[in-house]
Amino acid sequence: MRIVMLGPPGAGKGTQARLLAQRLGIPQISTGDILREAVRKGTPAGLEARGYMQRGLLVPDELVVRIVNERMAEPDAAKGFILDGFPRTYAQARALEESLAAKGQRLSMVIALDVDEETVVKRISGRLVCRQCGAMFHALYDPPRNDNLCDKCNGSLYQRDDDKEETVRRRLQQYREETRPLMDFYANKALLVRIDGTGAVEEVKERILKALETLDGQNDPA
Ligand code: AMP
Repeated sequence: MRIVMLGPPGAGKGTQARLLAQRLGIPQISTGDILREAVRKGTPAGLEARGYMQRGLLVPDELVVRIVNERMAEPDAAKGFILDGFPRTYAQARALEESLAAKGQRLSMVIALDVDEETVVKRISGRLVCRQCGAMFHALYDPPRNDNLCDKCNGSLYQRDDDKEETVRRRLQQYREETRPLMDFYANKALLVRIDGTGAVEEVKERILKALETLDGQNDPA
């Protein structure tokens, strides 16, 4: 299966993509994670992306498209993948379509997580990420057992620079202007499924699994 997760920052794309990837045995491809890793390592891609990310702006299409194409070409993605945070612009959506078409493939489903902006800001402002394993917690909704330490690996937890309020507002604006129009793009291709992204992680997961049952392999050529 080849799935795209759409939704504003803080909608739960990363969390749900990870759960779904485990369930389906296919990789989660998160452009945000790949870019943050590149920034951490100081690679050329990371150096190019850093300034945009810090300001809450989108990284140029060419760079992100290249990164995704390279990742999709790895053997573990041959049977499918879940794209989390990509595409975010028309140009990226078209580039994705072209790369898949060149391999005789297409998307199986686009899952849009619906969450209102107020909820998103609340979710993001309390978000804590493990420096070591990337696990996510929330100061109020999913607090770690020990203050500022990861339950899974004991790594230290931190707040992403771009999770600060002013940057979150800019990211939301970018979402409204650049990414939300992709809903129509995919609705016109009969690929879009809108899922209520509010409530507990498990509840949202069940809604997504139910939506996937309706697929029946119809949109999923080998
Ligand atoms: P995320 O973790 O998905 O919220 O992404 C964090 C940041 O990485 C975004 O605010 C952008 O600066 C950059 N980024 C991630 N994915 C993309 C993308 N598909 N296109 C452009 N920039 C991206």
